[in-house]
Amino acid sequence: MKRIYLDHNATTPVHPDVLKAMLPYYKEEFGNASSLHSLGRKARQALESARAQVACLIAPCEPADIVFTSCGTESDNFALKGAAYALGDKGRHIITTQIEHLAVLNACQFLEKNGYELTYVPVDEYGIVDVKTLEKAIRKDTILISAMFANNETGTIQPVEEIARLARERGILFHTDAVQAAGKIPVRAEEIGVDMMSLSAHKIYGPKGIGALYVNKRARVAPYMHGGHHEKNRRAGTENVAGIVGFGKACELARANMEKESTRLTVLRDRLWEGINKGLKDVKMNGHPVKRLPNTLNVSFKYVEGESILLNLDLKGIAASSGSACTSGSLEPSHVLKAMGVEASVAQGSVRFSLGSGNEASDIDRAIKEIPPIIKKLRDMSPLYDAGKYNLRG
Ligand code: PLP
Repeated sequence: MKRIYLDHNATTPVHPDVLKAMLPYYKEEFGNASSLHSLGRKARQALESARAQVACLIAPCEPADIVFTSCGTESDNFALKGAAYALGDKGRHIITTQIEHLAVLNACQFLEKNGYELTYVPVDEYGIVDVKTLEKAIRKDTILISAMFANNETGTIQPVEEIARLARERGILFHTDAVQAAGKIPVRAEEIGVDMMSLSAHKIYGPKGIGALYVNKRARVAPYMHGGHHEKNRRAGTENVAGIVGFGKACELARANMEKESTRLTVLRDRLWEGINKGLKDVKMNGHPVKRLPNTLNVSFKYVEGESILLNLDLKGIAASSGSACTSGSLEPSHVLKAMGVEASVAQGSVRFSLGSGNEASDIDRAIKEIPPIIKKLRDMSPLYDAGKYNLRG
Protein backbone atom coordinates (compact mmCIF):
# COMPACT_ATOMS: atom_id res chain seq x y z
CA MET A 1 0.00 0.00 0.00
CA LYS A 2 1.47 3.33 -1.08
CA ARG A 3 1.68 5.78 1.82
CA ILE A 4 -0.12 9.01 1.06
CA TYR A 5 1.45 11.91 2.92
CA LEU A 6 -0.92 14.86 3.28
CA ASP A 7 0.86 16.60 6.16
CA HIS A 8 3.38 18.88 4.45
CA ASN A 9 2.61 21.83 6.74
CA ALA A 10 4.01 19.72 9.60
CA THR A 11 7.16 18.88 7.69
CA THR A 12 8.40 17.82 4.27
CA PRO A 13 10.85 15.18 3.07
CA VAL A 14 14.33 16.50 2.26
CA HIS A 15 14.66 16.90 -1.51
CA PRO A 16 17.36 14.59 -2.94
CA ASP A 17 19.21 17.59 -4.45
CA VAL A 18 19.17 19.28 -1.04
CA LEU A 19 20.67 16.21 0.62
CA LYS A 20 23.28 15.95 -2.13
CA ALA A 21 24.29 19.58 -1.61
CA MET A 22 24.56 19.06 2.16
CA LEU A 23 26.57 15.82 2.34
CA PRO A 24 30.04 17.23 1.56
CA TYR A 25 29.69 19.61 4.52
CA TYR A 26 29.34 16.65 6.90
CA LYS A 27 32.34 14.88 5.32
CA GLU A 28 35.33 16.40 3.57
CA GLU A 29 34.19 20.06 3.85
CA PHE A 30 33.54 20.00 7.59
CA GLY A 31 35.24 23.32 8.40
CA ASN A 32 34.05 25.91 10.89
CA ALA A 33 32.94 28.99 8.96
CA SER A 34 34.80 31.22 11.46
CA SER A 35 38.18 29.49 10.92
CA LEU A 36 40.79 31.33 8.90
CA HIS A 37 42.31 28.29 7.14
CA SER A 38 41.12 27.07 3.75
CA LEU A 39 38.62 24.56 5.19
CA GLY A 40 37.04 27.38 7.18
CA ARG A 41 37.05 29.70 4.19
CA LYS A 42 35.28 27.08 2.07
CA ALA A 43 32.60 26.70 4.74
CA ARG A 44 32.26 30.51 4.87
CA GLN A 45 31.84 30.67 1.08
CA ALA A 46 29.16 27.96 1.19
CA LEU A 47 27.37 29.80 3.97
CA GLU A 48 27.40 33.11 2.10
CA SER A 49 26.11 31.60 -1.14
CA ALA A 50 23.31 29.93 0.83
CA ARG A 51 22.52 33.31 2.39
CA ALA A 52 22.14 34.74 -1.13
CA GLN A 53 19.85 31.82 -2.12
CA VAL A 54 17.61 32.40 0.91
CA ALA A 55 17.50 36.15 0.20
CA CYS A 56 16.55 35.37 -3.40
CA LEU A 57 13.45 33.46 -2.29
CA ILE A 58 12.11 36.58 -0.56
CA ALA A 59 13.62 39.10 -3.01
CA PRO A 60 13.92 42.02 -3.09
CA CYS A 61 16.05 41.39 -0.04
CA GLU A 62 19.69 42.06 0.83
CA PRO A 63 21.57 38.83 1.72
CA ALA A 64 23.14 40.77 4.61
CA ASP A 65 19.67 41.05 6.17
CA ILE A 66 19.38 37.27 6.57
CA VAL A 67 20.42 35.89 9.98
CA PHE A 68 20.54 32.10 10.29
CA THR A 69 18.85 30.52 13.32
CA SER A 70 18.12 26.97 14.45
CA CYS A 71 14.44 26.93 13.38
CA GLY A 72 11.30 28.96 12.79
CA THR A 73 10.53 28.89 16.50
CA GLU A 74 13.87 30.50 17.31
CA SER A 75 13.31 33.11 14.60
CA ASP A 76 9.95 34.06 16.15
CA ASN A 77 11.46 34.24 19.65
CA PHE A 78 14.41 36.27 18.33
CA ALA A 79 12.10 38.76 16.61
CA LEU A 80 9.72 39.24 19.54
CA LYS A 81 12.13 39.16 22.45
CA GLY A 82 14.90 40.93 20.50
CA ALA A 83 12.59 43.81 19.60
CA ALA A 84 11.09 43.92 23.11
CA TYR A 85 14.53 44.11 24.73
CA ALA A 86 15.85 46.67 22.27
CA LEU A 87 12.82 48.95 22.44
CA GLY A 88 11.69 48.46 26.04
CA ASP A 89 12.83 52.01 26.87
CA LYS A 90 10.54 53.39 24.15
CA GLY A 91 7.42 51.45 25.04
CA ARG A 92 6.14 48.13 26.33
CA HIS A 93 3.07 47.45 24.21
CA ILE A 94 3.05 44.74 21.53
CA ILE A 95 0.24 43.80 19.15
CA THR A 96 -0.20 40.32 17.72
CA THR A 97 -3.12 38.20 16.52
CA GLN A 98 -5.20 35.43 18.02
CA ILE A 99 -4.24 32.93 15.31
CA GLU A 100 -0.44 32.96 15.54
CA HIS A 101 1.63 29.79 15.85
CA LEU A 102 2.51 28.87 19.44
CA ALA A 103 6.09 29.99 18.74
CA VAL A 104 4.72 33.54 18.67
CA LEU A 105 1.88 33.19 21.18
CA ASN A 106 4.00 31.58 23.89
CA ALA A 107 6.85 34.07 23.36
CA CYS A 108 4.23 36.81 23.80
CA GLN A 109 2.97 35.19 26.99
CA PHE A 110 6.55 35.13 28.28
CA LEU A 111 6.88 38.84 27.53
CA GLU A 112 3.55 39.51 29.25
CA LYS A 113 4.93 37.89 32.41
CA ASN A 114 7.97 40.13 32.12
CA GLY A 115 6.36 43.54 32.07
CA TYR A 116 5.11 43.90 28.48
CA GLU A 117 1.49 44.49 27.55
CA LEU A 118 0.01 42.46 24.72
CA THR A 119 -3.06 42.98 22.53
CA TYR A 120 -4.32 39.92 20.61
CA VAL A 121 -6.26 41.10 17.56
CA PRO A 122 -9.26 38.97 16.45
CA VAL A 123 -9.93 37.50 13.00
CA ASP A 124 -13.06 37.15 10.89
CA GLU A 125 -14.88 33.91 10.06
CA TYR A 126 -12.28 33.13 7.34
CA GLY A 127 -9.39 33.65 9.73
CA ILE A 128 -8.36 37.03 8.29
CA VAL A 129 -6.94 39.55 10.73
CA ASP A 130 -9.19 42.53 11.35
CA VAL A 131 -6.88 45.41 10.32
CA LYS A 132 -9.33 48.08 11.57
CA THR A 133 -9.27 46.61 15.08
CA LEU A 134 -5.50 46.30 14.80
CA GLU A 135 -5.24 49.98 13.90
CA LYS A 136 -7.44 50.93 16.85
CA ALA A 137 -5.22 48.89 19.17
CA ILE A 138 -2.13 51.00 18.35
CA ARG A 139 -0.98 53.13 21.27
CA LYS A 140 1.76 55.70 21.82
CA ASP A 141 3.86 53.02 23.52
CA THR A 142 3.32 50.29 20.86
CA ILE A 143 6.76 49.08 19.78
CA LEU A 144 5.99 46.00 17.71
CA ILE A 145 3.29 44.37 15.60
CA SER A 146 3.60 40.66 14.81
CA ALA A 147 1.13 39.11 12.35
CA MET A 148 1.68 35.90 10.45
CA PHE A 149 1.83 35.74 6.65
CA ALA A 150 -0.22 32.58 6.21
CA ASN A 151 -1.80 30.41 8.87
CA ASN A 152 -0.44 26.92 9.37
CA GLU A 153 -3.83 25.32 10.17
CA THR A 154 -6.13 26.87 7.59
CA GLY A 155 -3.66 28.30 5.07
CA THR A 156 -5.47 31.66 5.15
CA ILE A 157 -3.24 34.45 3.81
CA GLN A 158 -3.15 37.66 5.84
CA PRO A 159 -3.20 41.29 4.63
CA VAL A 160 0.48 41.74 5.55
CA GLU A 161 1.07 44.62 3.11
CA GLU A 162 -1.71 46.62 4.73
CA ILE A 163 -0.42 45.89 8.22
CA ALA A 164 3.17 46.73 7.17
CA ARG A 165 2.01 50.07 5.74
CA LEU A 166 0.17 50.89 8.93
CA ALA A 167 3.17 49.96 11.08
CA ARG A 168 5.52 52.03 8.91
CA GLU A 169 3.23 55.10 9.07
CA ARG A 170 3.16 54.87 12.86
CA GLY A 171 6.88 54.16 13.23
CA ILE A 172 6.26 50.69 14.70
CA LEU A 173 8.36 47.60 13.93
CA PHE A 174 6.54 44.88 11.99
CA HIS A 175 7.37 41.19 12.19
CA THR A 176 5.71 38.47 10.13
CA ASP A 177 5.98 34.73 10.61
CA ALA A 178 6.31 33.54 7.01
CA VAL A 179 7.28 29.97 7.91
CA GLN A 180 4.30 28.50 5.99
CA ALA A 181 4.17 31.10 3.22
CA ALA A 182 7.74 31.45 1.95
CA GLY A 183 8.41 28.98 -0.84
CA LYS A 184 4.69 28.35 -1.46
CA ILE A 185 3.53 31.81 -2.53
CA PRO A 186 5.50 34.93 -3.52
CA VAL A 187 6.88 36.69 -0.44
CA ARG A 188 8.74 39.92 -1.17
CA ALA A 189 10.38 41.27 1.96
CA GLU A 190 11.31 44.81 0.93
CA GLU A 191 8.30 45.34 -1.31
CA ILE A 192 5.90 44.47 1.51
CA GLY A 193 7.90 46.62 3.87
CA VAL A 194 8.30 44.17 6.75
CA ASP A 195 11.09 44.73 9.26
CA MET A 196 11.48 41.13 10.37
CA MET A 197 10.37 37.85 8.85
CA SER A 198 10.69 34.28 10.17
CA LEU A 199 11.58 31.40 7.84
CA SER A 200 12.14 27.66 8.30
CA ALA A 201 13.80 25.11 5.99
CA HIS A 202 11.90 21.94 6.83
CA LYS A 203 8.58 23.23 5.46
CA ILE A 204 10.09 23.53 1.98
CA TYR A 205 12.00 20.25 1.49
CA GLY A 206 15.04 21.42 3.44
CA PRO A 207 16.43 19.87 6.63
CA LYS A 208 14.95 20.24 10.10
CA GLY A 209 16.73 22.42 12.64
CA ILE A 210 17.59 25.36 10.44
CA GLY A 211 15.77 28.64 10.01
CA ALA A 212 16.39 32.30 9.38
CA LEU A 213 15.22 35.69 10.47
CA TYR A 214 15.15 38.47 7.92
CA VAL A 215 16.06 41.63 9.81
CA ASN A 216 15.92 44.88 7.91
CA LYS A 217 18.73 47.32 8.69
CA ARG A 218 16.19 49.82 10.06
CA ALA A 219 15.07 47.35 12.75
CA ARG A 220 16.50 47.77 16.23
CA VAL A 221 16.67 44.23 17.56
CA ALA A 222 18.78 42.95 20.45
CA PRO A 223 20.57 39.60 20.03
CA TYR A 224 18.68 36.65 21.45
CA MET A 225 21.65 34.27 21.73
CA HIS A 226 24.83 35.52 23.36
CA GLY A 227 28.32 34.16 22.75
CA GLY A 228 30.78 34.50 19.86
CA HIS A 229 30.70 37.01 17.04
CA HIS A 230 28.82 34.82 14.57
CA GLU A 231 26.30 36.24 12.12
CA LYS A 232 27.82 39.70 12.55
CA ASN A 233 27.10 39.65 16.30
CA ARG A 234 23.40 39.12 15.69
CA ARG A 235 23.16 35.42 16.60
CA ALA A 236 25.93 33.63 18.48
CA GLY A 237 26.72 29.96 17.89
CA THR A 238 28.81 28.02 15.36
CA GLU A 239 26.81 28.00 12.16
CA ASN A 240 25.17 24.74 11.05
CA VAL A 241 26.94 24.87 7.68
CA ALA A 242 25.43 21.70 6.19
CA GLY A 243 21.94 22.73 7.31
CA ILE A 244 22.40 26.22 5.93
CA VAL A 245 23.63 24.83 2.59
CA GLY A 246 20.54 22.59 2.49
CA PHE A 247 18.29 25.53 3.33
CA GLY A 248 19.86 27.57 0.51
CA LYS A 249 19.33 24.76 -2.01
CA ALA A 250 15.73 24.24 -0.82
CA CYS A 251 15.05 27.96 -1.36
CA GLU A 252 16.56 27.84 -4.84
CA LEU A 253 14.35 24.86 -5.77
CA ALA A 254 11.23 26.39 -4.19
CA ARG A 255 11.73 29.58 -6.15
CA ALA A 256 12.27 27.74 -9.44
CA ASN A 257 9.21 25.47 -8.99
CA MET A 258 6.82 27.82 -7.20
CA GLU A 259 4.59 28.92 -10.05
CA LYS A 260 4.09 25.47 -11.56
CA GLU A 261 3.80 23.71 -8.22
CA SER A 262 1.32 26.14 -6.76
CA THR A 263 -0.97 25.75 -9.79
CA ARG A 264 -0.67 21.95 -9.61
CA LEU A 265 -1.36 21.82 -5.87
CA THR A 266 -4.32 24.20 -6.08
CA VAL A 267 -5.98 21.83 -8.56
CA LEU A 268 -5.30 18.81 -6.32
CA ARG A 269 -6.41 20.65 -3.16
CA ASP A 270 -9.70 21.70 -4.76
CA ARG A 271 -10.22 18.20 -6.14
CA LEU A 272 -9.87 16.85 -2.60
CA TRP A 273 -12.39 19.31 -1.18
CA GLU A 274 -14.89 18.74 -3.98
CA GLY A 275 -14.56 14.98 -3.52
CA ILE A 276 -15.08 15.19 0.25
CA ASN A 277 -17.98 17.61 -0.07
CA LYS A 278 -19.63 15.47 -2.73
CA GLY A 279 -19.28 12.29 -0.72
CA LEU A 280 -20.38 13.54 2.69
CA LYS A 281 -23.01 15.70 4.33
CA ASP A 282 -22.17 17.99 7.24
CA VAL A 283 -18.66 18.94 6.28
CA LYS A 284 -17.30 22.47 6.46
CA MET A 285 -14.21 23.98 4.92
CA ASN A 286 -12.32 26.21 7.36
CA GLY A 287 -10.33 29.15 6.02
CA HIS A 288 -10.69 31.61 3.18
CA PRO A 289 -11.98 30.01 -0.04
CA VAL A 290 -9.50 31.94 -2.22
CA LYS A 291 -6.94 33.77 -0.09
CA ARG A 292 -5.35 30.52 1.00
CA LEU A 293 -2.09 28.62 0.55
CA PRO A 294 -2.29 26.45 -2.56
CA ASN A 295 -1.56 23.27 -0.61
CA THR A 296 -3.79 23.62 2.46
CA LEU A 297 -7.30 22.33 3.11
CA ASN A 298 -8.85 22.31 6.59
CA VAL A 299 -12.12 20.42 6.93
CA SER A 300 -14.49 19.97 9.88
CA PHE A 301 -16.33 16.67 9.84
CA LYS A 302 -19.28 17.27 12.13
CA TYR A 303 -20.22 14.76 14.87
CA VAL A 304 -16.79 13.10 14.96
CA GLU A 305 -13.41 13.79 16.53
CA GLY A 306 -10.39 14.74 14.46
CA GLU A 307 -8.05 12.37 16.28
CA SER A 308 -10.27 9.35 15.55
CA ILE A 309 -10.33 10.32 11.88
CA LEU A 310 -6.55 10.63 11.82
CA LEU A 311 -6.02 7.21 13.39
CA ASN A 312 -8.42 5.61 10.92
CA LEU A 313 -6.79 7.40 8.00
CA ASP A 314 -3.40 6.25 9.23
CA LEU A 315 -4.60 2.63 9.16
CA LYS A 316 -5.36 3.21 5.47
CA GLY A 317 -1.87 4.63 4.89
CA ILE A 318 -2.96 8.27 4.77
CA ALA A 319 -1.14 10.83 6.94
CA ALA A 320 -2.96 14.07 7.78
CA SER A 321 -3.10 16.25 10.83
CA SER A 322 -5.65 17.36 13.36
CA GLY A 323 -6.75 20.93 13.62
CA SER A 324 -6.90 20.48 17.37
CA ALA A 325 -4.03 20.09 19.79
CA CYS A 326 -3.92 17.34 22.37
CA THR A 327 -2.99 18.87 25.71
CA SER A 328 -2.26 16.58 28.65
CA GLY A 329 -4.91 14.06 27.73
CA SER A 330 -7.74 16.56 27.23
CA LEU A 331 -8.76 17.48 23.73
CA GLU A 332 -8.51 21.23 23.32
CA PRO A 333 -10.12 22.69 20.21
CA SER A 334 -7.75 24.61 17.94
CA HIS A 335 -7.19 28.22 19.05
CA VAL A 336 -7.23 29.23 15.38
CA LEU A 337 -10.66 27.75 14.67
CA LYS A 338 -11.95 29.10 17.98
CA ALA A 339 -10.80 32.61 17.01
CA MET A 340 -12.67 32.17 13.72
CA GLY A 341 -15.87 31.46 15.65
CA VAL A 342 -16.04 27.77 14.76
CA GLU A 343 -18.09 26.01 17.44
CA ALA A 344 -15.98 23.83 19.75
CA SER A 345 -17.84 20.64 18.81
CA VAL A 346 -17.28 21.35 15.09
CA ALA A 347 -13.63 22.36 15.62
CA GLN A 348 -13.00 19.02 17.39
CA GLY A 349 -13.76 17.21 14.15
CA SER A 350 -11.35 19.10 11.95
CA VAL A 351 -8.54 17.70 9.88
CA ARG A 352 -5.81 19.57 8.04
CA PHE A 353 -4.76 18.13 4.71
CA SER A 354 -1.58 19.77 3.46
CA LEU A 355 -0.38 18.67 0.05
CA GLY A 356 3.09 18.64 -1.41
CA SER A 357 5.48 17.53 -4.11
CA GLY A 358 4.92 13.76 -3.74
CA ASN A 359 1.14 13.95 -4.20
CA GLU A 360 -0.57 13.02 -7.43
CA ALA A 361 -4.21 12.98 -8.57
CA SER A 362 -4.40 9.22 -7.87
CA ASP A 363 -3.45 9.88 -4.20
CA ILE A 364 -6.22 12.43 -3.89
CA ASP A 365 -8.72 10.06 -5.46
CA ARG A 366 -7.73 7.35 -3.00
CA ALA A 367 -8.19 9.76 -0.11
CA ILE A 368 -11.61 10.78 -1.46
CA LYS A 369 -12.57 7.08 -1.60
CA GLU A 370 -11.28 6.23 1.89
CA ILE A 371 -12.63 9.21 3.84
CA PRO A 372 -16.48 8.79 3.59
CA PRO A 373 -16.66 5.21 4.98
CA ILE A 374 -14.37 6.24 7.88
CA ILE A 375 -16.60 9.20 8.72
CA LYS A 376 -19.74 7.11 8.39
CA LYS A 377 -18.32 4.44 10.73
CA LEU A 378 -17.29 7.08 13.31
CA ARG A 379 -20.62 8.89 13.06
CA ASP A 380 -22.46 5.63 13.63
CA MET A 381 -20.52 5.30 16.91
CA SER A 382 -20.87 8.96 17.89
CA PRO A 383 -23.31 10.04 20.64
CA LEU A 384 -23.57 13.37 18.78
CA TYR A 385 -24.88 11.67 15.69
CA ASP A 386 -28.62 11.42 15.21
CA ALA A 387 -28.94 8.12 13.32
CA GLY A 388 -30.75 8.38 10.07
CA LYS A 389 -30.76 12.15 10.05
CA TYR A 390 -27.27 12.68 8.74
CA ASN A 391 -25.83 10.42 6.13
CA LEU A 392 -23.59 10.07 3.18
CA ARG A 393 -24.52 12.02 0.10
CA GLY A 394 -25.69 10.16 -2.97
N1 PLP B 1 5.52 29.31 12.55
C1 PLP B 1 4.64 28.61 11.83
C2 PLP B 1 3.54 29.35 11.13
C3 PLP B 1 4.75 27.22 11.71
O1 PLP B 1 3.85 26.56 10.99
C4 PLP B 1 5.81 26.57 12.38
C5 PLP B 1 5.93 25.11 12.33
O2 PLP B 1 4.96 24.40 12.24
C6 PLP B 1 6.72 27.35 13.12
C7 PLP B 1 6.54 28.71 13.18
C8 PLP B 1 7.88 26.73 13.83
O3 PLP B 1 8.89 26.37 12.92
P1 PLP B 1 9.98 25.28 13.33
O4 PLP B 1 9.31 23.95 13.26
O5 PLP B 1 11.07 25.43 12.30
O6 PLP B 1 10.45 25.61 14.69
